[in-house]
Amino acid sequence: MEHKVLGIHHITAIAGYAKRNYDFYTKVLGLRFIKKTVNFDDPKTYHFYFGDEVGSPGTILTFFPWEGVPRGKQGSGMPTEIGYAVPNGSFDFWTNRFTEYFVNVTGTGTRFGERYIAFEDPDGLPLTLIIPKIEDNRKPWETDEVGAKVATTGFHSITLTLRSVNETAEILTDIFDYKFVGQEGNRYRYATNHVANAAIVDLLEAPNEMRTGNAGGTIHHVAFRVKDEEALMAFREKVLAKGLNITQKIDRNYFFSLYFREPGGVLFELATDNPGFSIDESVSELGKNLKLPAQYEGHRKQIEAVLPSLA
Ligand code: ZN
Repeated sequence: MEHKVLGIHHITAIAGYAKRNYDFYTKVLGLRFIKKTVNFDDPKTYHFYFGDEVGSPGTILTFFPWEGVPRGKQGSGMPTEIGYAVPNGSFDFWTNRFTEYFVNVTGTGTRFGERYIAFEDPDGLPLTLIIPKIEDNRKPWETDEVGAKVATTGFHSITLTLRSVNETAEILTDIFDYKFVGQEGNRYRYATNHVANAAIVDLLEAPNEMRTGNAGGTIHHVAFRVKDEEALMAFREKVLAKGLNITQKIDRNYFFSLYFREPGGVLFELATDNPGFSIDESVSELGKNLKLPAQYEGHRKQIEAVLPSLA
């Protein structure tokens, strides 16, 4: 059986204040808060997951909120923009909403024949809303203020900024089976046809861009989606065969993961569909309760006492 990379699984970024991050993504953008847990390596801090109703791969945006972390700079060797798909006809709604909530809109325009609005979250993380040429038929999460006619259906694309795109492109094409789609200026677009959505990776070539470290408002890594652990381990062999280092399989509670740094400096993860976010709470309860991995359950009281309030 041929194993496939099925587009983006999730994207993980760094935020400053937890409540500000929670408010922006649940209220302003209208995403569902699908999991409230802790950073497994630093259980005094949160790990947030936002997505659609069930946390489908291709909709999952995760944050490590560190109270008061300094704001970072976008640079080379990192993902630098998250593209969300929104329905045709939704831009008036979003433009008004961004004015109402004082969201920093950084530009509007057209890329590869698709209109976009570029903006930043409260930590300066670059995001875009994009109207895809081919209608995105994924079912969005709806809130009182952000209904299905305007709500995002999930990721459209991720942009990686690189000093040189060639070696990264080779990982996408040779290992992940992405195809070159086209070039606009210094933006090189790659996509997989194994999935209909969250299928695009843009490589932005910026030879003079500095490498910067992760801080508030920067993206830590992008995870690509595979079906199961068998596929995960098959890709581990392919990455090793390219002469790159890759981790052992890691249990992330809601998926299994591998991490490797691609030659352009971006941290890539491969993550499985299984077991998913309803493993420790029902779909209707997702995000309602603080979920802790088994090793921290005995310290729940102390952990709850130090985590910032979201109320
Ligand atoms: Zn991840």
